[in-house]
Amino acid sequence: MMLRSINPSNYKVVGSVKVSTPKEISDKVRQARLYQKYWSEMGAAMRVHMVRKAMAEFEKRKDEVIKLESMEMGKPITAAASDFNDAMAFANWYLDNAEKCLAAETTFEDEKEIHRVYREPLGVAAVIIPWNYPFLMFVWTVIPNLLAGNCVVLKHSEECPLIGKLIEEVMHKYVHVSAFSEVYGGGEVGMLLVRNDIGLISFTGSTATGKKLYETAGRKFIRAVMEMGGSAPGIVFEDANIDEAVKSICTYRLTNAGQYCDGLKRLMVHQDRFEEVVSKLSNAFATLWVGPADLESTELGPLVAKRQLDLLAAQVADAKRLEARVITGGKSLESELGGAFFQPTLLTGVTPAMRVWREEVFGPVLPVVRFRTEDEAISIANDTVYGLGGYVYTADMNRAERVARALKTGMVSINGTNYTTPFNPFGGWKNSGMGREHGKYGFHELTQTKVVARNK
Ligand code: NAD
Repeated sequence: MMLRSINPSNYKVVGSVKVSTPKEISDKVRQARLYQKYWSEMGAAMRVHMVRKAMAEFEKRKDEVIKLESMEMGKPITAAASDFNDAMAFANWYLDNAEKCLAAETTFEDEKEIHRVYREPLGVAAVIIPWNYPFLMFVWTVIPNLLAGNCVVLKHSEECPLIGKLIEEVMHKYVHVSAFSEVYGGGEVGMLLVRNDIGLISFTGSTATGKKLYETAGRKFIRAVMEMGGSAPGIVFEDANIDEAVKSICTYRLTNAGQYCDGLKRLMVHQDRFEEVVSKLSNAFATLWVGPADLESTELGPLVAKRQLDLLAAQVADAKRLEARVITGGKSLESELGGAFFQPTLLTGVTPAMRVWREEVFGPVLPVVRFRTEDEAISIANDTVYGLGGYVYTADMNRAERVARALKTGMVSINGTNYTTPFNPFGGWKNSGMGREHGKYGFHELTQTKVVARNK
């Protein structure tokens, strides 16, 4: 059976890849298990050396990665270039810091005894990732696992199998085929993969899928790092610098056509600045250039696929039916532009009953509500099953800290400061996941902790 890759800018087929059979999947896991001891005993320095060479080749083939990302998932070409640079910055940080993060720590020492804590690999990681940042997601998950000493069997998203093939081709020049391999297909292939004898599930994707995989991990009693969906609140207080806040909100809502986990998906504005914020956002949304991903002038590309467009259109239709006000946008551009395009959309008059408020909205649509007091803003912000990111805009740093601490989320940005760095832990509370990526926190998540206490 073949998996077809479709360009969402024009719905043309750009290539196809063979779906992995159950035997191929279990063979890859078995090979990885056989190689696991060698990979783990080789030591972090050698693993860093090999992976660094692979990353150098990706750097040389950057244009291929960028073009494929743009073709397979509709990321505007300029955004794909900037995502590639981000991914390399993360990879370089992991490579430069893995040995330090994984080094043994002395917890106690006197003239008689020494106690040390070692970090040891968990075993074969089944890594399952989404399509929204095809190369960055590979870097965020596979590279730290490999450096931590876990062999990896990767299942990339069915929306970007050609990037998966390119990743496999490059990796296999520098990393043994048993240390890193890939399987291809949709959810059913992911399910088959985790049924095998693995040591860890490293998952990034929707909350619905994450919950199923967590059940599997629970039955097997293995570690699961779960990076799932989000519906991050943004709160604009009356003392905020509105022009700066509006710029930042546009970035955090519209980047990647709104298709990223910790995007700002629900906006709360103090009643005294509500009309001003809505009017400035409306101008910014209405003047964005929507077009095919391969044009340099495109500011907002299509969604990843028709099914994602249909879902977004249904969420917006539900809001309209329940009498939300469409300030700008509100429509699919599929018939005009011939791909999975949706207008940047601003909605007011939104209530908690509406799907755009309750569900994760993976597209360029922003619902805005007003609030009167700080407590009210916090309570609206926390009224969600998600808890990934949060965004606060205020000139008062005491209030900023207080509100940030009150938000039930894994990360909070104040006045647009970017928290997504290789040294900060990234991950969610509540239905947004468990476990953390990046920094020493991320490496620790992928390893066992062992204490060795001895006399001298
Ligand atoms: P998805 O859950 O549909 O798919 C993610 C991956 O899981 C894909 O590779 C898919 O084939 C696989 N999969 C699907 N069903 C499976 C099953 N039953 N068993 C095993 N594997 C299965 O998600 P998506 O639509 O690809 O990605 C979008 C979602 O990812 C959004 O919810 C977004 O918020 C989330 N996301 C989270 C983070 C984070 O770090 N928290 C980052 C990026 C994306």
